Formats: sequence, structure tokens, C-alpha cells
Amino acid sequence: MLHAAYEYDRNTLGWLESIAGEWGWVYNTAMNVEIIRSARRKKTISARLDGDTMIVQAPAEMPEKELNEAIETLRGRLLKRQAKRTLSDDDLEQRASLMNRRYFNGKLNWQSIRWVSNQNKRYGSCTPAKKTIRISHRVGTLPQWVQDYVIVHELAHLQQANHGPRFWELVNRYPLTERARGYLMALGLEEVEDPPFL
Ligand SMILES: [Zn+2]
Repeated sequence: MLHAAYEYDRNTLGWLESIAGEWGWVYNTAMNVEIIRSARRKKTISARLDGDTMIVQAPAEMPEKELNEAIETLRGRLLKRQAKRTLSDDDLEQRASLMNRRYFNGKLNWQSIRWVSNQNKRYGSCTPAKKTIRISHRVGTLPQWVQDYVIVHELAHLQQANHGPRFWELVNRYPLTERARGYLMALGLEEVEDPPFL
């Protein structure tokens, strides 16, 4: 299991993540924040994750500065918790739906997307004819932004059953594609998939 550490970067207002001693930026649009102020709430603030949004409930009179600091702390905790958790097939399905909405206008549909433990060299595979996607369990331990790339890659095969220019046009809608490919290459995970569509 890769050990990850997180630090909030006040310059970029984003989270930095360290994997095996190497620091990188965390892709965390999965951390939109919605603040609900309540007059009934006196002192405490609470947060829960709803899809890709952190919903924060805060006292009506809490100063902005204090609230922002508390939110930073909570975001850090939620990110850490997310990183530790091994995803279930349900989580994978939800993540794929999110990527579908975000990068494919929600137009894709598939039969199944699930984790498999028999793909040690490949990070994933897609069988467009059956609309089934399998993601290697090894991907489940990688940072969320790398997992998102793998999901977007396999989803794109539902529309383009090859690795041609039109395929990469779709995949490059995900802004960290090039970085994620480098990351996977460094780990020795290939993007060679099952032959059905080759
Ligand atoms: Zn591919």
C-alpha cells in the first residue's frame, strides 16, 4: 500500500499530496464546498460528503475567516479518509457516473464497471461490444486523480474502440491525462487492453 500525506498549499489554495516522498498537486474538484449557515447552530460546524461536494453546516454568526480555516482542516481530513479507503464496486460506479457527467455530458452508458484482481500489468480494460469495464485493483490504491484518468480512459473506449486521435481527444478532456499517464508508466502499468476492439 502506498503511503500518502497531505498538505494544504495556501498559494494555490489546493492540496498537495505526497506519494512515496514525491509531492504533487491533488486534483480535487471532488471537493466543492457548499456552506449552509444556520441560526440554530451555536458553536460547532459539521461536514459531510455528498457526491463530489462537501456540505458544511456552520453557525450563522461564525466569522468568515474562522470558517474558512475550519473548512481547510475538514477538507484535509476528508481527503485523507478517501485516500485510505479501498473503493467498492458501488463507489467505482458512482465515480464513473461523475466522470460521465463531467467529461461526456452524461451521454455514456455501460453494463458494468468493476474492480478485478487478475490484471497485474494492465490498469484496466473495456469490452465495448458488451459495454463492460474492468479496473485493476492496483489502481484502487493510487491517488484519486490517477484513478479518475483510468476511469475516463476506459469510458472513452465506449465511444472509440481504439487508441486513435479521436479517442485521445475524448480522454484529454480530463486535464491531468498526460500527468496520469506518466505516473502509471512509472509504476509499470500499461495501457494495453483486451483484444476485442483492436
Ligand atoms: Zn485504452
